[in-house]
Amino acid sequence: MSLAPPTRSAGRARGILDWIGGTPLVPLARIGAGLPSIVLAKCEHMNPGGSVKDRVAVAIVDDAERRGVIRPGATLIEATAGNTGIGLALVAAVRGYSLVCVMPAKMSVDKRASLAALGVRVVVTPNAPPDHPDNFQVVARRIAAEEGYFLTDQFESPANVRVHEETTGPEILDQAGGTIGAFVAGAGTGGTITGVGRFLARAQPAARIVLADPVGSGLAAWVETGVVGPDGPYQVEGIGSGKPPAILDRTVIDDVERVPDAESFAMVHRLLREEGLLVGGSSGTAVVAALRVAASGRIDGPVVVVLPDSWDRYASKPWMSRGG
Ligand code: PMP
Repeated sequence: MSLAPPTRSAGRARGILDWIGGTPLVPLARIGAGLPSIVLAKCEHMNPGGSVKDRVAVAIVDDAERRGVIRPGATLIEATAGNTGIGLALVAAVRGYSLVCVMPAKMSVDKRASLAALGVRVVVTPNAPPDHPDNFQVVARRIAAEEGYFLTDQFESPANVRVHEETTGPEILDQAGGTIGAFVAGAGTGGTITGVGRFLARAQPAARIVLADPVGSGLAAWVETGVVGPDGPYQVEGIGSGKPPAILDRTVIDDVERVPDAESFAMVHRLLREEGLLVGGSSGTAVVAALRVAASGRIDGPVVVVLPDSWDRYASKPWMSRGG
C-alpha cells in the first residue's frame, strides 16, 4: 500500500493553519457493515489542534482581522476549557496574539495543563450558574470589557456558522461523490449542524439533517417542540445543553436521536478498536445516532457523521481507560 499524495504543497502552505480543514471522510467499514446505507465519518479530530474547533478559531480571528477589530499583538479571550481554547492557541501562536481562557473549576486539570503548555493564561472561576457574576462566560465578558481584550465569543459569532457552511459542508458533499442521504452531528454551539445544514438545504435538499443529543440534554426536545427539555446529568463533553445556543437554528434539523452516555462510550471503544479512529466521547454519540439512521432503511445515499475531537483530551477519564 502506498501513502496518499500530499494535497497541499509545502511550498504554498504558509504554516500549520493552512492545514486546517480538508480532513478525511472515511467509511465505517466494519461498524457499518451490512447496513442499507453506508456510513462515512468526517475526521475532524485530524485537524492540527485535534478538533473541529480549529476551523472556528481561524474563522473568528480572520473575520475580526478583516473588520479591523484586532491586529497582531492584541489579546484574545474566550470562555472555554476545551477545543476552542486549543484552536485559538494555535492561531494565537502563529499570528502573534496573546490568549486568555476563562474556565470553571470543574474542568479537568489535563485541560488546564494543556492550555498552560500552549502559553495560554488560564483564569479559573468558581462553578456558577449562567447568570451569576462568577460564571465563566460572565467573567470572560467582564475581563474583555475591563482590559480591552477581544472576546472571540464562539456561541454568538456568525463566523462559526459560516465556516461550516463554506468549508465543512462543501467538503463532505464533494468527498461523498456528490450525494448525501443524511448528515448527523451533535450540537455544542450549534455551529457545525447549522452551517452544514444550511449548505445541504441548498445543495442537497433531500438530505435528512439529524441532531445527535445526549440523554440529559434539553436540546432534543427544543428542536422537536420549541420547548427545552428537562436538564439531566450526562458525562459526554462538548455537546447538548440546558439552554439553546444563539446560533443553533432548529429549522435546519429534520430529526433527533437521543443517545445515553453508556452507548456513546461503548461506541468510542469500537471506533478505536475496530476502525482505528482515535476520537472522543461526542464522536461516540454521533456514530450511535448515525448507525440508527443508516439502519432505518429510509435514507437514499450515504450517511455522513462528524467526529468532532481526539481521544487525547480524555486520557484521564475513567470511561476512556476502562476495558469497555
Ligand atoms: N464535540 C465536542 C467535543 C465539542 O467540543 C464540540 C464543540 N463544543 C462539539 C462536539 C459540537 O460542535 P458545535 O459547537 O459546532 O456544535
